[in-house]
Amino acid sequence: MLRVHEIYQSIQGESSFAGVPCIFIRLAGCPLRCTYCDTPQALSATSGRSMSVDQIIEAIAAYPQSLVLVTGGEPLAQPDCIALLEHLIELHHTVQLETSGAFDVSNVPPSVQKVLDVKTPGSGEETRNLWANLALLQGHDEIKFVLTSREDYLWCKAVIEERLPDTPATILLSPAYGQLQASDLCAWMLADNLPARLNMQIHKIIWGADVSGV
Ligand code: SF4
Repeated sequence: MLRVHEIYQSIQGESSFAGVPCIFIRLAGCPLRCTYCDTPQALSATSGRSMSVDQIIEAIAAYPQSLVLVTGGEPLAQPDCIALLEHLIELHHTVQLETSGAFDVSNVPPSVQKVLDVKTPGSGEETRNLWANLALLQGHDEIKFVLTSREDYLWCKAVIEERLPDTPATILLSPAYGQLQASDLCAWMLADNLPARLNMQIHKIIWGADVSGV
């Protein structure tokens, strides 16, 4: 069984699939408390309702999209998340998993595109980074840094240079909403010719920062 905060269809706002219609499965619960967390409503492991994998599959059958995002909270905090991912792959969905980087991703099915956070000092959760995860990433995976300041950017640049020189994954840099100007981040990326992509949260541009479930 899994604790599910919400299931809905929308436009994927981030990653290489930004702008693509998508089914969102938001699992409940996360042991981290990032300063910039934009899903505080899903942090409690008791939010939402309990559903079996089959019930979740039945619920998403109401939507026509092929792309499915499993997110949270922290999806991998629930062991049955792996069974859910496997079932979605068997049904030929294109599957993305958003994870904090604090949980081992070695059991995630290889066909799933992992979007793995690296927690910056500004997140307040830097010590939760499970660095061994970086070596498990494939070419279709993505590594996301959410940056709150110039200090976070310089820290991120050092991580990219020291830990990720040969990563096959795409590196995404996101300005923390309301904390860092995207224009400043773009200027720093260009000045350093950083091998990374700007990652904007377009759902916040479309519907506003405080709207959930859209
Ligand atoms: S890992 Fe994600 S869901 Fe958990 S506190 Fe951080 S931003 Fe929020």
